[in-house]
Amino acid sequence: MHLQKTVLITGGAGFVGSYLCEKLLDAGNPVVCVDNFFTGRRANIAHLLANPMFEVVRHDITLPYFAEVDEIYNMACPASPVHYQFDPVQTTKTSVIGAINMLGLAKRVKAKVLQASTSEVYGDPSVHPQTEGYWGNVNPIGPRSCYDEGKRCAETLFFDYRRQHDVHIKVARIFNTYGPRMLPNDGRVVSNFVVQALKGDPITIYGNGKQTRSFCYVEDLVDGLIRLMGTDKAVTGPINLGNPGEFSMLELAEMIIELVGSRSEIVFRPLPVDDPRQRQPDITQAAEKLGWAPTTPLKAGLGKTITYFDQLLRGLEDHSRVRPPAAVVR
Ligand code: NAD
Ligand code: UDP
Repeated sequence: MHLQKTVLITGGAGFVGSYLCEKLLDAGNPVVCVDNFFTGRRANIAHLLANPMFEVVRHDITLPYFAEVDEIYNMACPASPVHYQFDPVQTTKTSVIGAINMLGLAKRVKAKVLQASTSEVYGDPSVHPQTEGYWGNVNPIGPRSCYDEGKRCAETLFFDYRRQHDVHIKVARIFNTYGPRMLPNDGRVVSNFVVQALKGDPITIYGNGKQTRSFCYVEDLVDGLIRLMGTDKAVTGPINLGNPGEFSMLELAEMIIELVGSRSEIVFRPLPVDDPRQRQPDITQAAEKLGWAPTTPLKAGLGKTITYFDQLLRGLEDHSRVRPPAAVVR
């Protein structure tokens, strides 16, 4: 028999969170979406609002929140460097105080709690591909530190709440994820390149374009997160979730230009400070413990993303309002 769980999703109106809300509602679970709408949008969850099992709460997780729930997915935190560097103090507060508030809630109501951690905990990695046993190479005082160190501290808190209070925790280290519902002005590379290619604007490569990333399609990621939540108490992670296919930013730009059939030229812009040179997940643990591996090839996922942005841009009267922002360069 399938038992329904009441699920709290912080950051549920964001890019990844909105897919989680959708999937968990589809499976018959009551879902509470908590979001302060910093980078989230009502449009991401508009199609879910008619569902009586769905509840939306405008709330900032740096303040305590209480609800009787069985599972908590702690997704709240801006993920794009442009957005998390906009108010770095708030980013650290969201990661650290938000984690304390969600762990406190999990402890009080005996809920399982999953943390959306990140490959950024590896920093600019000297081990490649990155395994969960690697402790990382992170600058503690740079412009990315509010996010990297905030997420690292959140992981520490998760494991201390487990050791000290026996909270049922899960930590997922998410690698670069993309897909429909990213904001056109999100600032991350896939949305920037796709919007630029569709508009015929120059494709902005930061640095020489030889830095690499591994891109996971959002529905693959969400499947991995739900599988991780479904594991028994012994499985805590941290566990890498991402697509091991590794591409340079130059390769990504060329692929998107070709898929869009765009006449955009490639231009080179300064590399943001502390931009990691390479990133690729080792997903052996996810395969072994969750039976999970991504199934969407990059070209297929980009195709869906391009269709989404094409429709979005056609629907907007003033395209200049969605121009991707410049990188934060200090
Ligand atoms: P996103 O910016 O689209 O979503 C984040 C959501 O959190 C937004 O809806 C935002 O309004 C909300 N939020 C931010 N601060 C909040 C606060 N203090 N209180 C309540 N809500 C708040 O980002 P995303 O790509 O959906 O990422 C979701 C999570 O996954 C984040 O925690 C991110 O760090 C993590 N992650 C994402 C990626 C990726 O590539 N997408 C990679 C690694 C980790
Ligand atoms: N990037 C780029 N052009 C852009 C946006 C990003 O070349 O318009 C690069 C960025 O410098 C980084 C990579 O793409 O090397 C991925 O950047 P993103 O912000 O998507 O994520 P993160 O750096 O956090 O992995």
